[in-house]
Amino acid sequence: MNLIFLGAPGAGKGTQAENVSNKYSLPAVSTGNMLREAVKNGTEAGLSAKRYMDAGDLVPDEVVIGILKDRIALDDAKNGFILDGFPRTVEQAQALERMGVNIDKVLNIHVADERIIARMSGRRVCSDCGSSYHIEYKPVKSEGVCDSCKGSVELRDDDKPETVLARLKTYHEKTAPLINFYDSRGKLRTVEGQEKIEDTTRLTLEAIDS
Ligand code: AMP
Repeated sequence: MNLIFLGAPGAGKGTQAENVSNKYSLPAVSTGNMLREAVKNGTEAGLSAKRYMDAGDLVPDEVVIGILKDRIALDDAKNGFILDGFPRTVEQAQALERMGVNIDKVLNIHVADERIIARMSGRRVCSDCGSSYHIEYKPVKSEGVCDSCKGSVELRDDDKPETVLARLKTYHEKTAPLINFYDSRGKLRTVEGQEKIEDTTRLTLEAIDS
């Protein structure tokens, strides 16, 4: 089964992708996590990606498509995968089709912009394994320490309020057109993002079965 999680930044794609990944034993593939890792390791892709990420812009398609293609070719993805944060442009979605990847369902997690802005300031991420947390909705057990890998849990550079607004603008301009793209292919399922993570997970699992 190949799934895509679509939604604005901060809608809960990463958290829901992690939950569904555990339930179905499919790898959650987050291009954002891979890019942050590349930035941290100072690779060529990371160096070219950083300025776009810091500005709330999308990293150029050719960079991200290459990274994604290599990742889904790995052995653990041969029975399926969950894409979190890819595709983010119609070009990227077309590239997936050209790769011959069949997508079963696209889960569009909908959260209104006002709620996104309020949520993002509380979001935290593990700088080692990429697990996502929230100071209110999904706190770590021990302050600043990742529950899964004991790595350091921090505020993301691009979760600062001014960057969040730029990222939302980018989402509406470049990514939201994917809603129609996948709806016209009969793949889209919209999930209303709830306050409680487990409520959104329940709706997401129902949408996957629908
Ligand atoms: P995310 O963790 O998914 O919110 O991604 C963080 C940042 O990484 C985004 O704001 C973009 O700058 C970049 N990024 C992640 N995925 C993509 C993608 N599929 N296409 C272009 N840029 C991406």
